[in-house]
Amino acid sequence: MRFYLTTAIDYVNNRPHLGNAYEKITADVIARYKRLSGFDTHFLMGNDEHSQNVYKRAHERGLEPLEYCDQMEREFRAVWTQLDISFDDFIRTTEPRHKAAVQRLAQRCFDKGDIYEGQYEGWYCVSCEAFKQERDLVGGACPLHATQTPEWIREKNYFFRLSKYRDALLEHFHAHPTFLQPEARRNELLRLLEGGLEDISVSRAGQSWGIPLPFAPDNTVYVWFDALINYAAAVGYGTDPSRFDACWPADLHVVGKDITRFHAVVWPAMLMSAGIALPAQVYGHGWVNFGGQRMSKSLGTSLDPTDVAHRFGPDPLRLYLVKEIAYGGDGDFTWERYEERYNVDLANNLGNLVSRLAAMAEKYRGSRLVAAGGGGRLAQVADAALARYRVSMDGFALHDGAAAAFQIVDASNEFIAETAPWALAKQAGDAGRLDEVLFEVAEAVRIAAVLLRPIMPGSAAEILRRVGETTMPDALRLDQDGAWRGTDVRHITKGAPLWPRVEASKSNDVNVAGATKRPSQKMEMSVEETPAGTLGTPGTPGAPAVPATTPAEDSRISYEDFMRVELRVAKVLTAEAVPKSKKLLKVTVDAGTEHRTIVAGIAGAYQPEQLVGRTVVIVANLRSAKLMGVESQGMVLAAGPEGQPPTLIACDPSIPPGTRVR
Ligand SMILES: [Zn+2]
Repeated sequence: MRFYLTTAIDYVNNRPHLGNAYEKITADVIARYKRLSGFDTHFLMGNDEHSQNVYKRAHERGLEPLEYCDQMEREFRAVWTQLDISFDDFIRTTEPRHKAAVQRLAQRCFDKGDIYEGQYEGWYCVSCEAFKQERDLVGGACPLHATQTPEWIREKNYFFRLSKYRDALLEHFHAHPTFLQPEARRNELLRLLEGGLEDISVSRAGQSWGIPLPFAPDNTVYVWFDALINYAAAVGYGTDPSRFDACWPADLHVVGKDITRFHAVVWPAMLMSAGIALPAQVYGHGWVNFGGQRMSKSLGTSLDPTDVAHRFGPDPLRLYLVKEIAYGGDGDFTWERYEERYNVDLANNLGNLVSRLAAMAEKYRGSRLVAAGGGGRLAQVADAALARYRVSMDGFALHDGAAAAFQIVDASNEFIAETAPWALAKQAGDAGRLDEVLFEVAEAVRIAAVLLRPIMPGSAAEILRRVGETTMPDALRLDQDGAWRGTDVRHITKGAPLWPRVEASKSNDVNVAGATKRPSQKMEMSVEETPAGTLGTPGTPGAPAVPATTPAEDSRISYEDFMRVELRVAKVLTAEAVPKSKKLLKVTVDAGTEHRTIVAGIAGAYQPEQLVGRTVVIVANLRSAKLMGVESQGMVLAAGPEGQPPTLIACDPSIPPGTRVR
């Protein structure tokens, strides 16, 4: 099984910003996941050097363009190395292999009659390096470069008959519903295709920096036509036919939403013209904003990914970008939010768990844990999390894959709090149970680390080492190593806290004006604190002295976290019993903008007819779930004393359905 994936290649007129890094990191997570799943994976990245902006930038610095590109390549590679990006090949569009591929593909399209000479007249945005339709401009300017006036260009150009491929492209989109993902991008481009396509210019006249058209060497290939061909060039198109046959078509192009049109319309049409198979899939990810603003060097809202990586290392950044942003949508980075997630997910949650396990293992069992039979509760949690993880990662819901791994972490912390190993350790009769508990936690941590390996490669490897995993990280396979191991001996290794807590910086001046300014680094080592909160019992004699936090810090959430739970007022329209269930009722509610079916465990307290017309509070953004065969789209809030049927949380009936509860 092979898997060939690519990212967009980058213009080298600036160092990469966090938005560029987001694409490489998420593609790297996919590449590492495919390797973990046993695919023979080939991951391509590269630089796009035949840009007029690159040419200009080189001359501003008094360098030859190629000299400048060489320097930038070193800078780009250094950034990607710092972020632990595991690309297998890095292509530059000035390389001979790329030039050969471009010339061959252009010639094939020309021979097919798909490239013709014509006159181009129209707007051109130099920053985008793209021709713009009058209707694309906003107040006469490029929508992406408000400070730049587009140029009116009139020159003899060669054109590609894109219009000819409109029907074939539409057919391809319909025959391959997942060709372009996510769905929003696909719908956008389907509408574009339905509206018809215009032929596009594929050459520029009178420019020396670029690849000459083979059939008209006075013209250079337009940078976009040139750049797209890198994906085929890198695996031998035009230079190594047998390698190309073995590697092509690509399985996945990961690109930004602003350039999905080039990748899902122009590129496939070029391939059809040249008689080459189409890539299996294009994924158009969203953008990371910085403090709510689009990241842009020219607007001063850009963030250097190495600055962020310096703060806590590459893995916390990778986790933040993957876990906090639903893949496919847009997201936001602020230093404040970043530090908050670092403390919550890493310092308090995963890091603390790893430290406590090691401390307890050492104190009670001399760091040697022996499996005591089949897995208990955590084994079930880990199995369910693994299944969710696979489905999510296969469908590029990377954020949900990360959440699945953390499901195990959360459950393990709860398990420690409930089983209280420090209390078991005091009773000789509980020795067997203590063995079970400690081994179960160690095994759960091991599986969580296997699942996190694509997202946080270095940290996951370190956690695996500490919990006694003997397989080398690169040799891990999800099939074997993601499964629960009920028989084993584990040697647990203690180490320094993986992620010491930091004091959250509350300054907002880092958001826009001080785009590259970093908050002061107040590191707060929590080694001396006692385990507490949900993770242990404060002051329990015999409790292991391991890093933890005070209860309040541990369990409190920010307003932002609270607002992620979408509580809304709703009105009950119908209610009926769920067959064969004593507890469940099926209700439909008016949630303001829509009607929903929700299964609620309130049958013990109400007859169905008592509920109609009631005003209730629902969790509106809960993932839907099947309960007794009925799909429940949300949750109705209810409460009751232990052992008694819950009753509805009251809500003033004058509040209209759909109103947000805050
Ligand atoms: Zn522009």
